[in-house]
Amino acid sequence: MNKPFLADRIDGKGFAADLVEKLTVDVADIKSRTGLTPGLAVVLVGEDPASGVYVGAKHRQTLAIGMESFVYRLPAETTQNELMALLEKLNAASEVNGILVQLPLPAHLNTNAVINVIDPDKDVDGFHILNAGRLATGQDALVPCTPLGCLMMLKDRLGNLAGLNAVVVGKSNIVGKPMAQLLMGENCTVTVAHSKTQDVPALCRTADILVVAVGRPEMVKGDWIKPGAVVIDVGINRIDRDGRSRIVGDVAFEEAGHASAITPVPGGVGPMTIACLLANTVTAFKRQHHIVTHQAVVAV
Ligand code: NDP
Repeated sequence: MNKPFLADRIDGKGFAADLVEKLTVDVADIKSRTGLTPGLAVVLVGEDPASGVYVGAKHRQTLAIGMESFVYRLPAETTQNELMALLEKLNAASEVNGILVQLPLPAHLNTNAVINVIDPDKDVDGFHILNAGRLATGQDALVPCTPLGCLMMLKDRLGNLAGLNAVVVGKSNIVGKPMAQLLMGENCTVTVAHSKTQDVPALCRTADILVVAVGRPEMVKGDWIKPGAVVIDVGINRIDRDGRSRIVGDVAFEEAGHASAITPVPGGVGPMTIACLLANTVTAFKRQHHIVTHQAVVAV
């Protein structure tokens, strides 16, 4: 007989909707107080279909909360110099408060050089080396959107995270590493696992907080999860099952019923990522204009 599924589903979609609502109010307040409209510029190079969909979604949601959206769709053969020149122009543009280059870039472009030419105070993806350094040293940073969303959901669920054992599976620059830094900032005891880690299941079983960002469908099995743990599944994997295509996470969701809470895929981390991008753009605008508001929308 199957064990009952007792874990709460963390409603990332609802959480993101709440955040977007607060940001809409915040943007209206900024506009009435300053006469200015925060603006986000998104640069897409090439015709990758998934990237095109993400850029379209970012454009629509940016406009929906009352901000300005500037989308630059460049041909795949754009040179490094041409891309750098556009970014320099956006750095200097006063109506652009946030800049994002959609990744991955075509192979002939140097991604690190591209990211690091963005003004760090407009780097709403939080990938610039200065923002990575600020985050690592506990200074005010623009924080990568996906781990920022994960932390917001964890804090909402658990309150004070100090002293909890956190295991982050995956050490990419965009998810795993900043996630570990954020959890250290909350005084968790953090372990990072990756493809060369010995006995990942045993490590996962020590976790009060388990964040998985690997990109392998349902890799984390039920018996890797400590009873009562909070599980954040970042993975987005398309698989074929029972003759139909579906999206699953990096965690075998149906086996995780003994966790205290888990993010579903889809509907968990994904919706929070774009909401946090909008939040970072508002944060960037406020810092550029030295605006202090009564209440921080992003409580990190
Ligand atoms: P990367 O491919 O950049 O990194 C994957 C990480 O997983 C690496 O550190 C790798 O280790 C580690 N890894 C791979 N295999 C194993 C294994 N068998 N055991 C332990 N660790 C392993 O991926 P990303 O961080 O960019 O993305 C991870 C997942 O999250 C993907 O499914 C992606 O689609 C999803 N994602 C979702 C987002 C959202 O908004 N929900 C946003 C960003 C990503 P090593 O470093 O040793 O190679």
